[in-house]
Amino acid sequence: MKKILIGTHNQGKFREIAVLLSKKYKKISPKSLKIKSPKETGKTFGSNSKLKANYFSKFVNFPVISDDSGLCIKSIKNKPGIYSARLAKKYGSFFKAMQYLLKKMKNKKNRSAYFICALTYKDKKKKSISVIGKINGTISNKIRGNKGFGYDPIFIPNSYTKTFGELPKYKKMKIDHRFIAFRKLKKRVRI
Ligand code: IMP
Repeated sequence: MKKILIGTHNQGKFREIAVLLSKKYKKISPKSLKIKSPKETGKTFGSNSKLKANYFSKFVNFPVISDDSGLCIKSIKNKPGIYSARLAKKYGSFFKAMQYLLKKMKNKKNRSAYFICALTYKDKKKKSISVIGKINGTISNKIRGNKGFGYDPIFIPNSYTKTFGELPKYKKMKIDHRFIAFRKLKKRVRI
């Protein structure tokens, strides 16, 4: 069976990427190969996803897929942005990071936000393709729902009333930023 390395240590992300990939692949995690994560030194989602794919690809002789994703909230200068994971680390949990963001948003009229996913696929010949997927929405007034992961409970996708944390997982996964990025990638490569 063909193998592909999904370059993330985030279990929620690993699962979401794994189901978007063809069944022909055996999905390998960096953890199972005892590979650590690289430092995310890029200034953009795109550069971080490329950096991760380049890094993980050095350890294996089969394809690698990596993403860099996060939540951008317009009224607070697109924060937390590329620091989405690091904000949760700083506050100790995603719950606390969401509380912090909701506090910052308390008097903001504009609650527009988007989730973004930069995806990089690097084949075994080390040729890479990168794409971006985005979903627009708004930030809820409180933390709602316990499905999904990360910032799902405060993000309401446009034309929905529920947060990603309240939507059934199969529904979220058919509309989200990662799905959109995958749709673009699948037009260019069979994965
Ligand atoms: P990184 O791409 O590993 O730097 O992490 C991005 C962070 O953004 C993750 O820790 C997630 O919590 C958050 N994030 C990315 N995609 C999603 C999503 O689909 N739902 C909720 N949070 C997300």
